[in-house]
Amino acid sequence: MTIFDNTLDADGALIVGAGLAGLFTALKLAPRPVTVLSPKPLGMGASSAWAQGGVAAAMGEGDSPRAHAQDTEMAGAGIVDHGTAEGVTAEAVARIEDLARWGTPFDRDDFGNFELGREAAHSANRIVKVEGDRAGWAIMQAIIAEVRRTPSIRVVEGITALSLARDNGRIIGVYCRRLGDRYSEPIYIRARATILAAGGLGGLYAVTTNPPGVRGHAMGMAARAGAIIADPEFVQFHPTAIATGADPAPLATEALRGEGAILVNDLGERFMPAIHPDAELAPRDIVARANFRQIQSGRRVFLDTREALGADILTRFPTVSKYCHDAGIDPVNGMIPVTPAAHFHMGGVKVDERGRSSLPGLWVCGEASCTGLHGANRLASNSLLEAVVFGARIAEDIGGLEPTRKLTPFEGIEWDEAEGNKAEEVLRNTVAVQELRRIMGDLVGVERDEAGLKAALRQIAHLEATAEQVTSAFLNMTTSATLVAAAALLRSESRGGHFRLDFPEPSQDWEHHTEMTLSQALAIRAGA
Ligand SMILES: Cc1cc2nc3c(=O)[nH]c(=O)nc-3n(C[C@H](O)[C@H](O)[C@H](O)COP(=O)(O)OP(=O)(O)OC[C@H]3O[C@@H](n4cnc5c(N)ncnc54)[C@H](O)[C@@H]3O)c2cc1C
Repeated sequence: MTIFDNTLDADGALIVGAGLAGLFTALKLAPRPVTVLSPKPLGMGASSAWAQGGVAAAMGEGDSPRAHAQDTEMAGAGIVDHGTAEGVTAEAVARIEDLARWGTPFDRDDFGNFELGREAAHSANRIVKVEGDRAGWAIMQAIIAEVRRTPSIRVVEGITALSLARDNGRIIGVYCRRLGDRYSEPIYIRARATILAAGGLGGLYAVTTNPPGVRGHAMGMAARAGAIIADPEFVQFHPTAIATGADPAPLATEALRGEGAILVNDLGERFMPAIHPDAELAPRDIVARANFRQIQSGRRVFLDTREALGADILTRFPTVSKYCHDAGIDPVNGMIPVTPAAHFHMGGVKVDERGRSSLPGLWVCGEASCTGLHGANRLASNSLLEAVVFGARIAEDIGGLEPTRKLTPFEGIEWDEAEGNKAEEVLRNTVAVQELRRIMGDLVGVERDEAGLKAALRQIAHLEATAEQVTSAFLNMTTSATLVAAAALLRSESRGGHFRLDFPEPSQDWEHHTEMTLSQALAIRAGA
């Protein structure tokens, strides 16, 4: 390991990423000192702030954690970890209470009880929400305010992690760079406990609902450091991203279909009832594939909320209404054009029930991790829940290991926001990155087959070999892409979010998780 001149000491735990998983863990660690790295100003650049539906928790009359766990297992298509589902659903109410205590203004009735929404594949009303579709934004505002009030949390904005630092197989911090400072020596931040909470990988796909910086960096970094990755092939495509041509594509929440909105094609045909008995409320992967096939056959797909909601959409779904307004779509009198988009990663860095990865010194939470909760397909609104449950568990685990110390100020990493944003924009739009996103969308997307996956692996290898600048950030992305494609090639069946045209049925032989290291994925790539 090289010791850089630019070495800083985290003085406690180090959290990479400032979405709900990272910030919740930081708050739970208080008063133990913690440093949180965020590429953007807090609240920006995180999927968490864009969540529309809410957090799933069995709080309603007649509902139970057991029923919630059963729905989770049903959605996960045979490979949800039973113990994880039972544990997470049992801890849900306590974590919702934490969020409420820290100021989240959840929707409540006149008696102060939570108003609970319904989403597909939940057998009860159990989505805790804010103003209809503003849960993510409201939760993050509340949490950020609490973080700012907490003296044991040091937030460093405008900084992005590039690689994990290792010493004898143990993770001892991260190498990072200020945004806008691509050519200077990386900064090494040393820590005894490193928590990776840098989100999923939706942005590896050309069409995605995820913020631009969420592109598989977390999984890529961990895999490059030797961590075991679980279930990378399972990517969830949301059926109803709003098709405005914008990148990322804004989301039209599933709750609209929960309220009775229907899907029709440009011939005015409603196609879902012929495909699944639950029609528009069928599991997400089935609706996403139905929409995908309509579009592949030359049709356009629309979400029609007119009869179900009429003008109420404007007040009950203000976020969706704003997206429509910005794109010149009138959801009260017209229909919303939609398309499937990469939305959520069920796989990630394999962790145990305490959030520990296979590498000593490294904990992982939120979408970057694979806890076994989602199996092959996530149940709606279970991801924010997973982020807070594992954030709390990690804080408890680390709390026992980390002494309380005083934070010393970090010198010399002030950030110029404008310069940083400019530099990020350049990196985001390099030809190689756009080509990678095209490959993933075309060949590793909603429908896959052997020839396409092999071609994807060859093309990713070619990109790595020929890209003008193979930076660590780019390698993190190609590493994640390689893992997804290699595991998808290996899994010769269809299950949940992974659909193989050449193996369209589930196979009992594959009723288990995938575990893969980067070396294994690279060996598969070399043979493609
Ligand atoms: C549009 C949308 C709607 C959703 N709706 C819901 C919902 O209603 N309910 C639900 O449960 N789930 C929902 N999800 C999924 C859920 O929002 C995410 O799974 C969850 O927020 C992930 O939280 P996280 O903290 O792990 O990651 P994020 O919130 O994505 O945060 C990741 C953080 O890591 C940072 N980061 C990235 N790379 C680096 C790096 N190299 N170095 C340092 N930091 C880095 C990012 O800037 C960000 O701060 C939705 C997702 C989207 C995109």
